[in-house]
Amino acid sequence: MNPSFLQTPDTSRYALRRLSAPTCLLDGEFPAARTEGLSAVDLLIEQGRIAGIEPAGTLPAELGPDLDASMVLPGMVDCHTHLDKGHIWPRQPNATGDGAGAAKATMTDRSAHWSAEDVRRRMEFGLATAHAKGVVAIRTHLDSVAPQASISFPVLREVRERWAGRVELQVSSIAPLDIFLGDEGRQLADIVAESGGRLGAVTRFAKHPDNPVPPELDDALARLFTLAMERGLDLDLHVDESTDPRARTLIHVAQMALKKDFQGRILCGHCTALALQTDDYIASTIAACRDAHIDIVSLPTVNMYLQDRSPEARTPRWRGVTTLHEMKAAGLRVAVAGDNCRDPFYAYGDHDMLDTFTQAVKIGHLDHPLGDWIRAATETPAAIMGIDRGRIEVGSRADLLVLKARSYSEMLARAQFDRTVIRDGKGIDTTLPDYRLLDDLVMG
Ligand SMILES: [Zn+2]
Repeated sequence: MNPSFLQTPDTSRYALRRLSAPTCLLDGEFPAARTEGLSAVDLLIEQGRIAGIEPAGTLPAELGPDLDASMVLPGMVDCHTHLDKGHIWPRQPNATGDGAGAAKATMTDRSAHWSAEDVRRRMEFGLATAHAKGVVAIRTHLDSVAPQASISFPVLREVRERWAGRVELQVSSIAPLDIFLGDEGRQLADIVAESGGRLGAVTRFAKHPDNPVPPELDDALARLFTLAMERGLDLDLHVDESTDPRARTLIHVAQMALKKDFQGRILCGHCTALALQTDDYIASTIAACRDAHIDIVSLPTVNMYLQDRSPEARTPRWRGVTTLHEMKAAGLRVAVAGDNCRDPFYAYGDHDMLDTFTQAVKIGHLDHPLGDWIRAATETPAAIMGIDRGRIEVGSRADLLVLKARSYSEMLARAQFDRTVIRDGKGIDTTLPDYRLLDDLVMG
């Protein structure tokens, strides 16, 4: 049975009347809804597109249902995930629950299991889940240390093709930065370019696991930038994902971008160690990021899971998120994203950007006022990905989430399991794929 609470009318032209839409995601002026940050609108849907947005109560009753102030959101956008790692938890848990345990467990699982078929089936499971939740676009990183890149990238290309029109899939590599000092880095850049991807790395060295700013850092960054520029690639980096205040590579990335006059986009993920620096250092790093046009994505659920964890049942003392408020205030584009799902980097997760957003609000105090933070899960990641998504606009595809919640308070307080997901104007079945589908892969 489809758990959606609303059945969309079975005609190619219909209205969804008396909805509450985030004001910051609408073009034009509409009457305020009863609660803060929302506007009261009627939507006219025609041939799978939004054909009109009117003040609530304008469109005639016979055109479609009265939603009694239910919230409507645009299809959500997850700009930082790891679909290739997803759902391996049952066969490869993280024994310690921390970052080191995650890296070790993932390496073990990858070398034992990550055939094309294994990666493909877990990736498809993740996409089917995200689609049912109302996610319309995803960027995934793919573990890219040889020989995995030559296995996973062809799978990605095939899966991306199959999901086109349902979930728009982008890809970035991820590998330790020191591979770019050698020929493997060039080969990876070629694979990424052939796949229409982003060149990605973690700003750490495999050969210096305990040194967060290794001596050849700038050499490796220079090489990475050069490889990207030669191929016209954007960059997508995992940066300073650490509780070690010595982890200060973000400023190096910004300075290298400026030195190279890099014209592509740069997305930096995590940047958690920045929150441990002095206010002056934070301000000057953010200023350099702004000058270098660096975008930021925070992965709050995963950072909070992995960081400040101790084997002695010691209660964690910090939240492990970067300086989101300060970055946004300085004019950086700031997104939140889901990162890992049921793998050694995060034991939980369900590919649900609405859940990621509600958790981000609570972890990062993105509230009181909530302001336009909903953009961090919709319009901003879409802009970062360079796609026309994440707003409610006349002429755009009618890819929407309709919630029972009538306010941000109701939305953030209660898990929205009964949401209606509309794609191209039609309500889709939001039944989630059963975990049993993966039993033969991950239950041993
Ligand atoms: Zn990540």
